[in-house]
Amino acid sequence: MHLKTLTLRGFKSFASATTLSLEPGITCVVGPNGSGKSNVVDALAWVMGEQGAKTLRGGKMEDVIFAGTSGRPPLGRAEVSLTIDNADGALPIEYSEVTITRTLFRNGGSEYQINGAQCRLLDIQELLSDSGLGREMHVIVGQGRLDTVLRATPEERRGFIEEAAGVLKHRKRKEKALRK
Ligand code: ATP
Ligand code: MG
Repeated sequence: MHLKTLTLRGFKSFASATTLSLEPGITCVVGPNGSGKSNVVDALAWVMGEQGAKTLRGGKMEDVIFAGTSGRPPLGRAEVSLTIDNADGALPIEYSEVTITRTLFRNGGSEYQINGAQCRLLDIQELLSDSGLGREMHVIVGQGRLDTVLRATPEERRGFIEEAAGVLKHRKRKEKALRK
């Protein structure tokens, strides 16, 4: 199994559709500071189902949608597709090539697809869960991530743990309910 192509449309700084072809072996992405290298890694985590906005280096999930520049208006949706070579059948699905797609609309709606058919986030998580990819596999270690954890205050460290455990959204809901 290997990752074949990653296509970004309206994801972070990638306003125009951009496809990266990944050959078997090691792929390096090089470029100046701020050119979007980490955004490519964020897209990979996102399409595989990442739910933590902080992990994606944003404040809220909407921050993954192209926010506009001086010469280009913001977009209404972000879409990322990942095509995986499944010739060895590592993924439990009857296709030798699998494309997963995630779309987020600015109004908050989201869609997931496997080979063009609509599915649930859970279906993608289950598809990837035995393959070493996807949720809770910690296959992606972001730039500065270790440093952030080591230098965090106790409160921030608690935030990381709560996000990893999926408690953060419930805490936010609770705080919102108590304010009313
Ligand atoms: P470095 O070498 O410093 O790590 P990098 O190549 O990893 O840089 P990224 O962090 O991937 O750079 O890209 C940062 C750029 O992406 C910034 O210019 C930021 O404005 C832009 N960006 C992030 N989110 C969005 C968004 N939603 N819309 C438009 N641009 C965005
Ligand atoms: Mg970076």
